[in-house]
Amino acid sequence: MPATKVDNRLEGRTLWIPRMTHIGGRMMAAVFRANGIESRVTPPSDDSTLQYGGLYCSGEECYPEKVTLGDFMRIVHAPDFDPSRHAFFMPTAEGPCRFGQYAPYLRQVLGEMGHGDVPVISPSSKNGYDGLAGNVTTMMRSMWRGLVAGDILRKMLLKTRPYETQKGLADAAYAKSMDMLEEVLQQSGLKGAKQTEAIVAVMTRCRDLFRSVPAKYVKGRPLIGVVGEIFCRLNTFSNYDAVRKIEQHGGEAWLSDVTEWVWYTNWSQKSLLKRDGKTISLAMLGAIVKNKIQKSDEHRILEPFAEDFAGYEEPHDVYEDVLRPAWPYLPADGALGEMVLSVGKTFYLHVKGADGIIDISPFSCMNGIVSEAVYHRVSEACDGMPIRNFYFDSSSSNMERDLDIFMELAVSYAKRKKTARRYPAFFGG
Ligand code: SF4
Repeated sequence: MPATKVDNRLEGRTLWIPRMTHIGGRMMAAVFRANGIESRVTPPSDDSTLQYGGLYCSGEECYPEKVTLGDFMRIVHAPDFDPSRHAFFMPTAEGPCRFGQYAPYLRQVLGEMGHGDVPVISPSSKNGYDGLAGNVTTMMRSMWRGLVAGDILRKMLLKTRPYETQKGLADAAYAKSMDMLEEVLQQSGLKGAKQTEAIVAVMTRCRDLFRSVPAKYVKGRPLIGVVGEIFCRLNTFSNYDAVRKIEQHGGEAWLSDVTEWVWYTNWSQKSLLKRDGKTISLAMLGAIVKNKIQKSDEHRILEPFAEDFAGYEEPHDVYEDVLRPAWPYLPADGALGEMVLSVGKTFYLHVKGADGIIDISPFSCMNGIVSEAVYHRVSEACDGMPIRNFYFDSSSSNMERDLDIFMELAVSYAKRKKTARRYPAFFGG
């Protein structure tokens, strides 16, 4: 471990990262390790996740809370659990979403179990990661790069797997790529421009791994946009691996990624500063500089993928491409969070030639409920493109039952849609 100044609450402990996405959690843990904090993503969720989640939840919490708490409780209940050797990572936020209750509730549960000394590390939009490691700014930038690279690799998986001719090879390329990227991010001496170039180099090798997967790229497979609540749509355990089910039903999924949320929160921050009359302020300058730095990192890491992502480009500007089209249905200065992103991304994907949209949300989450209320009109505005909400909890989902019908609607829409899809050059006719 490097001789980096680390928050003394974490000395001698493993910091466990929730598995919202496997790749995101692993890359974040790798960056923590590079900064002197021993860290791991929680092990893959299984039935015991839900058993422990159910044991410590009353039933009124949202499904992502049950899954993340259940995964942490599996660690606490392990026979060799030593409270002096562990810590948990759970960010927090303000606002109406129940996510803000996750960290306080985890502290409460640990306290009631007699483990009140186990730290819950909870960065917020206000305090960031202050005091966690020696150079927090550098660490956060590394995390951003890891997040961007992780989103790119997942996108490569999703655009390769439906076309592979040898089952399992796209997943294998993804697993190998995760190992390779993690190896770079956990190097403690690698920072700044050197780190960016090392990431670009390893991502180029990952790209070539995916390109070498035997595949038959034929046009015409229905392209299904997947939007919705961020945890449930990205966490394969929570949504019963919905993307793979879409693929098994003949589709290709375009899954809304994690960085989308970062662009949205950056926009929100600037928008609130303007509303409060702080258009010319240090806070606004800081927000603009942060956005520019993040854009430039993303641009550099994406460069090797230009050919692969022809036709798969993500929105250039979250306001122009996502929030503005959604405004007549859900104005982003009033409706907050994933609901507005889901509706806006639906418009964006319609322009990119999608054949249908699936919105994935936990049962009882307001995001899915609100977006569902406007999807009928959104679908009309998108030439009748099928849009369908699928809800998930620990015991059921309506996806298995209705996916056949939805895919038929998507195939039928594909025949009459007005916005053609653009394919990368390596696709055959
Ligand atoms: S968006 Fe919904 S499901 Fe997600 S944390 Fe908030 S309340 Fe829970």
